Amino acid sequence: MTNWERHRRCLGASTACPRCDSCESVLHVLRDCPYAHDVWSATLGSLLPPTFFANNLDVWLLSSFRSSSPTLFSDVPWFILFASTRWHLWKSRTDLIFTGVVTPADSTAIRSVNWSRHYSMVSNKIISKPIVRDVAPCCCLPPQSPWVCLNTDGSVCPCSKYARAGGIIRDSSGTWVTGYGRGIGIGIVDVFTSELWAIYDDLLLAWQLGFDCVQVQSDCSKAILVISDANSLNGYSILIRNILSLCQRNWAIKFLWIPRTANQVADKLLKQIPFPHFDMIHLDAPPDYLMSQLEQDNSSSHGFTVA
Ligand SMILES: [Zn+2]
Repeated sequence: MTNWERHRRCLGASTACPRCDSCESVLHVLRDCPYAHDVWSATLGSLLPPTFFANNLDVWLLSSFRSSSPTLFSDVPWFILFASTRWHLWKSRTDLIFTGVVTPADSTAIRSVNWSRHYSMVSNKIISKPIVRDVAPCCCLPPQSPWVCLNTDGSVCPCSKYARAGGIIRDSSGTWVTGYGRGIGIGIVDVFTSELWAIYDDLLLAWQLGFDCVQVQSDCSKAILVISDANSLNGYSILIRNILSLCQRNWAIKFLWIPRTANQVADKLLKQIPFPHFDMIHLDAPPDYLMSQLEQDNSSSHGFTVA
């Protein structure tokens, strides 16, 4: 909270900026303080738009976010550098207030550019690698060797609002590798998010087990679509970013939507996760309550072929 805001709420005696004694508003911290001037000049220099220091806060934020102006750094888009510099200005201000650390303006500028470059590089990498999405089958289709099959599922109980995520991993012959599941929240997670958590947990588990080729099967078409569609990155969440980040590792991943009827094994496992239980449950061997479903998958003419 700025000193102006603290003073307005009777929480502080002075509105003064600790750097220059002017009234410390949000806009002052982020743009109008001489310190902020120095940082912006170091990051954008002569490329600063003529009206950059003229508008009020709302107009400044909106126009700057929409701007496609070039930056001094060809590998960093304007909007990333703009966001990064604002964040580092605020951080340097809080460092000064709470720890007494004085960060030189050029150091704040360098940190901002480096952070922008790193963020830009990671974003481009995520967008550039294609994610394979298979055509949906009419029933559960096991992958061919050496692929392993990850069946995932997420759900939210309509009564208790308890959200759960879980799934199983089988090899191409239907042999059980592992099962997992956990509660992920009560009243704070929707079904879509629980499906995403299931995919994330399953991928992380498969990676830790050392698999090179994994096929993720989910009955949530929206989750498969969002993960597969690079355009959806415009509004992506941290969870989706983490899934996409896992996808960028050195392995092959396919995403496959399957009907709910073909995902019964994951669905049944999910229902057995106790309430409430937020630690990960690992199942090294298939539990009794899944045996009939596993046998059904294996005996299906379209399902797993037991070696
Ligand atoms: Zn100031």
